[in-house]
Amino acid sequence: MSPNKVKSEMSDPVLVIGAGVAGLTVAVELADSGVETVLVDRETSVGGNALNLYKAFPTDDCFYCFESNRSRPGIRKCFYRSALLDQPNIDLRVDTEIEELNGEPGSFEIRLKQGPQYVDPKKCTMCGACTELSDAFSLLSPQCQPQSVIFNPEKEDEGSSKAEEECPTGAIDLNAESTETTLTVSDIVIATGYQEMKPNQIDEYGYGQYSNVITQLELAKTLDPNGPSHGALVRPSDGAQVRRLLMVQCVGSRDENYHPFCSKICCVFALKHANIIRRERNGTDVSVVYMDIRTYDRHERYYREAREAGVEFTRGRVSEVTPLEDGTLDITLYDSLLDKYFKTNVDLLVLSSALEPSTGMTKMIEELGLESASGYVSPANLLDTEVVAGDHVYACGGAIGPAEVPESVTQARAVASKILQERM
Ligand SMILES: Cc1cc2nc3c(=O)[nH]c(=O)nc-3n(C[C@H](O)[C@H](O)[C@H](O)COP(=O)(O)OP(=O)(O)OC[C@H]3O[C@@H](n4cnc5c(N)ncnc54)[C@H](O)[C@@H]3O)c2cc1C
Ligand code: SF4
Ligand code: SF4
Repeated sequence: MSPNKVKSEMSDPVLVIGAGVAGLTVAVELADSGVETVLVDRETSVGGNALNLYKAFPTDDCFYCFESNRSRPGIRKCFYRSALLDQPNIDLRVDTEIEELNGEPGSFEIRLKQGPQYVDPKKCTMCGACTELSDAFSLLSPQCQPQSVIFNPEKEDEGSSKAEEECPTGAIDLNAESTETTLTVSDIVIATGYQEMKPNQIDEYGYGQYSNVITQLELAKTLDPNGPSHGALVRPSDGAQVRRLLMVQCVGSRDENYHPFCSKICCVFALKHANIIRRERNGTDVSVVYMDIRTYDRHERYYREAREAGVEFTRGRVSEVTPLEDGTLDITLYDSLLDKYFKTNVDLLVLSSALEPSTGMTKMIEELGLESASGYVSPANLLDTEVVAGDHVYACGGAIGPAEVPESVTQARAVASKILQERM
């Protein structure tokens, strides 16, 4: 530790921003060691992107059961329900944004804005009565944490106030207002993850114009039995079964117009989806158009399995997408190995869109005086561990660049151990 660095007491509070796999892991590891941990997420449920991913490489386990807290015996493997329920050292605040970051390393002043909290998760028993009365109430996922329905004010309808009156536990308050609190913490952990770029601006794919053009994250939700089609692989336009599907790699990644970097994990999750479809959705043809297939590390097996399963690969680019009246899409492809254009017809076009830093990352990096690498948090010192972003500031998971879950969890554990070491 540098001689000028303020040393924190073991129990000094830590703020963890983002309750995806990485943030959850840091929070639980710190709380288990007796550190008061404030865990905030701007969404209404914890879990982050992993909430919607169905099956996970490298094990093909169901994502609901993905391990993140294995060091806690007696805790269900499911991380959405994990230690958050019974760990008094974690102060979980969902639907919460950081309004202001001030103060000094070792003593940061944070202003948080929460809510409005229309449904009190401590009172909601998930009886479902409100969801029967109004479309504005919904259950995000049966595995969500906190265990509560959510209210979307944009969908408020005639049944909403009846639901408020009839809620058996008085959990609903449609007049709720947002609240602000200020707290002082010694350390900040940035675990804000990534977001999938919405490729509306890339004209040739027609994303946002043609409903049968979707992204990989949207495909993952479609394959999920808890998703909108209950796991059936159907066309968004008319619910018809998908018989032919084409994936396009490097959409907005490795492209100077959008993100010059490689998003690292999209080849693997595209192949994961291709294999799931070939294995579980009889008879659906899958093709992949790529610039390079980058299956790093142990994930090469996904590429081998895809070839064995009959997935077709074309090295090249999509140059035009034309929707037809029967709901299918005519696609013009350039094959760069044969130096030839050809046409194909599919039900669904799936774009492997770039993974980019979460909205607000640039502001957070500026406010905390950190270094940035392609918009993500950069390590403070390249010779030190990559999770140290600054004095009393740490970052892990998707916040430091596209990363798979095991990598995010390992980095999160490194953050927790670094914070604890600094206090000894
Ligand atoms: C289509 C797809 C398939 C994938 N499949 C796999 C797979 O099979 N196996 C695998 O290992 N990995 C997979 N991944 C990668 C996996 O999603 C990530 O490794 C994982 O989500 C990273 O977790 P995280 O906690 O770092 O970030 P995230 O999951 O992105 O969570 C970040 C959290 O921070 C919150 N947040 C962001 N900014 C703020 C803010 N300013 N204030 C408050 N809260 C904020 C967000 O709401 C979110 O809840 C896949 C990714 C994609 C896109
Ligand atoms: S009626 Fe009340 S308790 Fe039942 S699910 Fe809705 S908010 Fe929760
Ligand atoms: S991982 Fe694959 S699809 Fe993603 S940017 Fe890199 S090469 Fe392109």
